[in-house]
Amino acid sequence: MQRKIEVGILGATGMVGQRFVKFLQGHPWFELKWVGASERSQKRKYRDATSWRLEGGMPEAVRDLEVEECTPGNAPRLLFSAMDASVATEIERAFAEAGHFVVSNSKNHRMEPDVPLLVPEINPGHLKLIPEQRQRGWKGAIVTNPNCTAVVLVMALAPLKPFGIRRVLMTSMQAISGAGYPGVPGMDINANVIPFVSGEEEKVEQETQKILGEFARDHIEPLAARVSAHCNRVPVTDGHTETVSVELAAKPTAAELRAAFDSFRGVPQERGLPSAPARPVIYLEEPNRPQPRRDVERERGMAVFVGRLRPCPVLDFKFVALGHNTIRGAAGGAVLNAELMHSEGLLD
Ligand code: NAP
Repeated sequence: MQRKIEVGILGATGMVGQRFVKFLQGHPWFELKWVGASERSQKRKYRDATSWRLEGGMPEAVRDLEVEECTPGNAPRLLFSAMDASVATEIERAFAEAGHFVVSNSKNHRMEPDVPLLVPEINPGHLKLIPEQRQRGWKGAIVTNPNCTAVVLVMALAPLKPFGIRRVLMTSMQAISGAGYPGVPGMDINANVIPFVSGEEEKVEQETQKILGEFARDHIEPLAARVSAHCNRVPVTDGHTETVSVELAAKPTAAELRAAFDSFRGVPQERGLPSAPARPVIYLEEPNRPQPRRDVERERGMAVFVGRLRPCPVLDFKFVALGHNTIRGAAGGAVLNAELMHSEGLLD
């Protein structure tokens, strides 16, 4: 058996950091050996520094790891980042400069022109941006995964790209876990809807165009589609639900769209990457699905569920999409990115 690749987590004690710890448990290629967090947690055992908030209890292998300072030094070459956005810019840069591959969840570097904003089923070719980062004098690199709302939208739109996406309207119903811990106060969110998630609509609109765009020599040519997002926080624990209307240049039939959802596959499926869902987009027939409580944990939280495809009297078609915000939209998405990078020989 091949030796596993040692990995670390920057921001290992937070909501997404814990998802990484759990998702990496028993991973066939990666072994968690290093955890970093803020000064508050450093020099303490992970079990003492972390208030574990996920189902199933803290994995044994991580309990006794000492939480380290987030500065380059003794960390493994491959690092997953789940750091607070207020500190991620400089820390992630310092690690990339020192030769680490930082696979990040944070928003900080996503829209930089030489940084891949990667969804392995959709744009594996965007990894060709990595050599551009050498011009910064970095020996390592930063690769990012999308905002947790954007990833659900792009996974549902990617099968429709061959029909020519012109305009998209998306309204989200976003889970509380998307706001970190403790997140939105219970008195605000219980039996309520908050029609504002700071910065989210801009992120969804810009990231969708970059992810669905094309690599062109040394940059990404964004998809020339107009995207409008309405983002709302709702009293759901995990899973972002999105209602989407789309205008398509080729004016396909509903049956053609349905076939496109069903047949959608990507490089992770072809290569059998360990965290790849067998089908990245799963269409549900029932008229009242997908639903977060019933569907979001299926396929280890790595698939996006679509349903209710029907004509839209304003644009061409409308449908519902659902994805797990801290798995596909954070830790699981980043691990799949690293698996793609390894399968390309980038981590050798
Ligand atoms: P969180 O629960 O607040 O966790 C933040 C983490 O950052 C903790 O481990 C914290 O360590 C660490 N940290 C804070 N200051 C630091 C410093 N100066 N140096 C090193 N580490 C520091 O937040 P979260 O929800 O997990 O989100 C983490 C990142 O992922 C954010 O950038 C967020 O935008 C992004 N993200 C979140 C989601 C989601 O659905 N929640 C989805 C996609 C992306 P201590 O415990 O020591 O304070």
